[in-house]
Amino acid sequence: ETAPAFLSVWDMHSYYGESYIVQGISFNVHEGEILALLGRNGAGKTTTLRSIARVSSPQVTHGEIWLDHQPLHNMSSYQAAQAGIGLVPEDRRIISGLTVEENLQLAQIAPPIGWSLDRLYELFPRLAERRKQDGVTLSGGEQQMLAVARALARDIKVLLLDEPYEGLAPVIVDEIEKTLRIIKEQGITTVIVEQNAVRALELADRAVILDTGSIVFDASASEVLENESLRTEYLAI
Ligand code: ATP
Repeated sequence: ETAPAFLSVWDMHSYYGESYIVQGISFNVHEGEILALLGRNGAGKTTTLRSIARVSSPQVTHGEIWLDHQPLHNMSSYQAAQAGIGLVPEDRRIISGLTVEENLQLAQIAPPIGWSLDRLYELFPRLAERRKQDGVTLSGGEQQMLAVARALARDIKVLLLDEPYEGLAPVIVDEIEKTLRIIKEQGITTVIVEQNAVRALELADRAVILDTGSIVFDASASEVLENESLRTEYLAI
C-alpha cells in the first residue's frame, strides 16, 4: 500500500459551455513535490489548473479533486483557496493603485494567514526594495514575484503556477527558479504549467503531459527529458 497522494485528481472532465476540454484526467502530486504540467498550446493545461482551483469557468462536470484529505470538487474557488489552493494566473492580476506592500497585505485580510511580510521580503528582496512602489509599475519578473508572494501571504498548501516564466529574460527566470526551489524546501507543493518545457523539467520532480485534454505521459522529469520522441511530438523541444 502506498500513502494517498497529497493532491489527487481523479477522472476529471471540464467544459467551457459546450466545449469539452479536459477529457477525464487522473494524476497525483505528492507532498513537497514539483509537478510540471506540459503540452502543446490548447492542450488544456490552464483549464486543468482552473478546474483544480474551482474557478467558476470551466465547469467541472465529473470527477474528484482531493487536497490533503479534503474533497475540493464541490467547493467554490473561495473555499478551495481557504483549503490551501494558491493559483497564480498567467496575467498575474496585480492590483493597480496599490503598492507592493498593499497588494501583499490585501491577501492577508482573509484567514488563514500565511507567510509574514518579513518572511516574504526575505524570500523576495527585490519586493522589499520596492515595497512602496505601485505594483503595476514593477517589471514583468517583479510582478511575477509579487504574484507568487501574494499567494504565499495566504496559508497555502499547493502553488498552481500558470506560465510563470512567460516573457521573462533568462536571468530573471533563473532568479524565479531559485526562489521556487526555496519555496519547495519550505514544504510547499507546486504544479507548474510552462511553455518553456526545458526550464520547467529542470525544476520539476515529475511531469504530466497533456494532449487534447487527455494525459499521454506521466513520469519523472528526467524520463521526459531523455525521451526524444516524446519531446518532439508533444513539447517541440
Ligand atoms: P496555452 O498554452 O495556449 O495556454 P493550454 O494548454 O493552457 O494552452 P487551455 O488554455 O486550457 O490550454 O485551453 C484549452 C482549450 O480550451 C483551447 O482550445 C481553448 O481555446 C479553449 N478555451 C480556453 N478558455 C476558454 C473559454 N473561456 N471559453 C471557451 N473555450 C476556451
